[in-house]
Amino acid sequence: MTDTDATLARLGRSAFRRRFHLSAADRAYIQVRGMAVVARHTREFLSQRLAPARPQRDGRQTPWRGHPVFVAQHATATCCRQCLARWHQLPPGVALTPAQVDRLSVLILAWIQSELGSSAAAPPGQPTLFDGDRPRTDADGCTR
Ligand SMILES: [Zn+2]
Repeated sequence: MTDTDATLARLGRSAFRRRFHLSAADRAYIQVRGMAVVARHTREFLSQRLAPARPQRDGRQTPWRGHPVFVAQHATATCCRQCLARWHQLPPGVALTPAQVDRLSVLILAWIQSELGSSAAAPPGQPTLFDGDRPRTDADGCTR
């Protein structure tokens, strides 16, 4: 088992992380744009929104939906510095190295690939991520 597999397995035991799935729109986006573009966006989002020692709007920099990588970031706990610290032992207040950005990119893309390999797409237009919970909005911070 690789580190990536082990981390995905660990994330899969979190009731919160497990709720995230690609929507039909996310899947269509990946099909049209291709994984190379998704991989580039993954690196851009991580570099711009997570890698600085003190990212802007930390805890709120990753929208809940609107791009497959955003969904994958919540699923893999790569959404904010608090989650990076808790799940990936990356201390807050210290800029991420290019190697760390690489490692997190691999994890995000592996999660997306595993989603694409499963048929359990969220129904179109149905924000089912938070059933049984109050609906969250982009204004909510990431607190778990
Ligand atoms: Zn977070």
